[in-house]
Amino acid sequence: MHIAIIGAGISGLLSALELVEQGCSISIFDQQQAAQAASWAGGGILSPMYPWRYPQAVNDLAQFAKPQYQAWNEKLKPITGIDFEIHETGMLIFDEDDFEIGINYAERHHEPMQQAECLNREQLEQINPHIHPKFKQALYFSQLANVRNPRLLQSLTQYLKQHPRVRFFEHCPIQQFQITEDRIQAIQSADGRLHRADHIVLATGAWSQHWAAQLGLEIPVQPVQGQIVLFKTPAQWLPSMCMNKVMYLIPRQDGHVLCGSSMRHVGFDTTPNPQTQQDILTACFEMVPELAQFPIVKQWAGLRPGSPTGVPYIGKVPSLNNVWMNFGHFRNGLCMGTASAQLLRQLMLGQETIVDPAAYDPKQLQPTSICA
Ligand SMILES: Cc1cc2nc3c(=O)[nH]c(=O)nc-3n(C[C@H](O)[C@H](O)[C@H](O)COP(=O)(O)OP(=O)(O)OC[C@H]3O[C@@H](n4cnc5c(N)ncnc54)[C@H](O)[C@@H]3O)c2cc1C
Repeated sequence: MHIAIIGAGISGLLSALELVEQGCSISIFDQQQAAQAASWAGGGILSPMYPWRYPQAVNDLAQFAKPQYQAWNEKLKPITGIDFEIHETGMLIFDEDDFEIGINYAERHHEPMQQAECLNREQLEQINPHIHPKFKQALYFSQLANVRNPRLLQSLTQYLKQHPRVRFFEHCPIQQFQITEDRIQAIQSADGRLHRADHIVLATGAWSQHWAAQLGLEIPVQPVQGQIVLFKTPAQWLPSMCMNKVMYLIPRQDGHVLCGSSMRHVGFDTTPNPQTQQDILTACFEMVPELAQFPIVKQWAGLRPGSPTGVPYIGKVPSLNNVWMNFGHFRNGLCMGTASAQLLRQLMLGQETIVDPAAYDPKQLQPTSICA
């Protein structure tokens, strides 16, 4: 079976990986260089930030993130030589309003990722000695990890590019479909070329609304800009991830610390904004004041594929027999990535599914309203 995947972010690359491992051949298209959009720009926390604030369908996919990325890292590392560093730092949360609800949530969900405890000042200092003294308590998720997502993407692209059944088409925007009755016969790139495949997967992230008119469906996916500021501290300086008021610090093993993030509706603009940078710094120095002594080495912004509830669309397009969606992951595309791709592969190949697919079914998308 030959599959064309449009979009080489985490959703497209992991879909390619799942399908190629089952014997499919893959053509993967991206309008720019592969793996440079939201999936590169993200923070890499392998859990929704406050899981209880999300629909269960988000957590149902995200719960698989850490073990599945660990398994892929073990498999790909000997071939690519890239370790994408699943860094098990745990996470401290300082939002007091969330303490009780967080503990209750953890008790209801007996998953390793959701083990939580409330720490007093003495205990939290043992976990992380750099926290501002004004924080007397914290909610601690000891099992949470982050992945070094740019390296993850590098590993995936390198593995797929050396695979004999995979072909990459970079800087190759797909613009149109040739549809006959209930199938896409070919997809057309901007240079006019037609590309044929048995099945088409749309993994186009924040750009997915582009397909609405051609599919005759409302696709409520909007770009939502998020900005990150990157510090360089000594290796292992910050021992845990930290979160307060939806702002976070994410330490990498080599001492880089990512600070983020923001939510701005500015179309497809990825220019970092000075005021947003200031807001991020204020929030992060409030948690860890000593961070201010270290240099900022980079900053950037990326476009999340914002969907109404954060639940992605995964499954077959209702009116067409060979078109599939895997997009709309909003703030959690990295942590939902492995299970989303697995679910897509299972649906495409008629296999038993890892979760109930109903919550993600593109059938819920409304037909485009025809204006008189
Ligand atoms: C600042 C920030 C922090 C984040 N932190 C986290 C986090 O800690 N944990 C987490 O789980 N998630 C996080 N996210 C969210 C996560 O990054 C996204 O949900 C995820 O990357 C979406 O992946 P994707 O593959 O669907 O989209 P993308 O990575 O954007 O990939 C889509 C690709 O499709 C291509 N494309 C689009 N249209 C076409 C076309 N017509 N033809 C060809 N190619 C096309 C694009 O060029 C792009 O490469 C964060 C996001 C941001 C911005």
